[in-house]
Amino acid sequence: MIYLDYSATTPVDISVFDTLSTVTKNFIGNANSIHSLGQKSSELLESATKQIADIFGVNPSEIVYTSGATEANNMALIGAALANHKKGKHIIVSKLEHPSIYAICDYLKTMGFEISYVNNDKEGLIDFDDLKEKVREDTILVSICAVNSEIGVRQPLKMIRQIIKKENMGTIFHSDMTQAIGKVSVNMHDVDLASMSGHKIFGPKGIGFLYKSSMVKITPLIYGSGKSNDLKPGTPPLPLIAALSKAIRLANDGLEKKERFVSLLNDKITSSLSKYPNIIINKTKYSIPQILNISVMDVMPEVMVHALDKHEIYVSTNTACSSGDISNSVIAIYNDINRAKHTLRISLSYVTTTEEVNRFLKIFKEEYENLSNLK
Ligand code: PMP
Repeated sequence: MIYLDYSATTPVDISVFDTLSTVTKNFIGNANSIHSLGQKSSELLESATKQIADIFGVNPSEIVYTSGATEANNMALIGAALANHKKGKHIIVSKLEHPSIYAICDYLKTMGFEISYVNNDKEGLIDFDDLKEKVREDTILVSICAVNSEIGVRQPLKMIRQIIKKENMGTIFHSDMTQAIGKVSVNMHDVDLASMSGHKIFGPKGIGFLYKSSMVKITPLIYGSGKSNDLKPGTPPLPLIAALSKAIRLANDGLEKKERFVSLLNDKITSSLSKYPNIIINKTKYSIPQILNISVMDVMPEVMVHALDKHEIYVSTNTACSSGDISNSVIAIYNDINRAKHTLRISLSYVTTTEEVNRFLKIFKEEYENLSNLK
């Protein structure tokens, strides 16, 4: 099998799985219980959270565990909207967000919030002038993803923050960091709120977190009991949390070296596929190497995905969350519907090997030439 869909999800790292299994077996107490078994769990919860907080240079109380990035995005956007609706009802998002952000915005619209979509340039970078213009006195929140999930465009969050805060100090800045964390370095201090998901970084499915700066207030969406966190009451899923902490540590180990290696693989695929006149590489100078998007103009993407699938090679159309749809990100950057209808996303990881890439290119060539009648 050649798995090239690491941006949809990743397999669990074996040592992360060991942590998951060991903690499940050995820490049966509820971290909210006051007896010694509960205490033992509570201590592990504290140390796992401290490890995560230390990696990102934040306070442990600023980490709110969620089931993944969709929940973290909901908590951030709806929570910030509810906490600030008296100050204003205006929210800004980019045109390069994950579908979950747009779904939340659609819900917020039904509650009377106004959503503006900030423009980006031809490289996918946020249009700073447009952002400056769009931030108003009643803008309570701006949400811009750190790395786009389809084309991999990475945004300069620090600069974006400066623009937002210069226009309105009170505007909260959220970033969906799901495709950034574990692939490229991030700085939590560039934002007020950030979402991430463990299953994108060789952690288990069903765990992620929302970083919430202690400087901002958001309204809880879930009510219940338990001392662990006001925003996410209930029994903390300790095995998942310990496994997430381990996955984050592993992901951040040698981050730049891993990125450089993936860059070489990306270059190899790019140069090989660019020779086909009907294949367009949807890559900008801000795309991270782990995400490689192409438009195969003369073969439908589903057909290509299934053709590769027969050889146990796995790629996706645009994103796992919007398969079958046209690519919003390709529209936002290239404004070309036909190109957006034909996208394939090849997502790489530092565990991808050169041999896998070579075999992928060989099979791709055979299947593509066959399907497009190039022979
Ligand atoms: N945001 C981004 C940028 C994503 O890539 C994804 C996963 N496709 C999500 C949010 C949703 O994450 P989860 O599956 O953990 O809910």
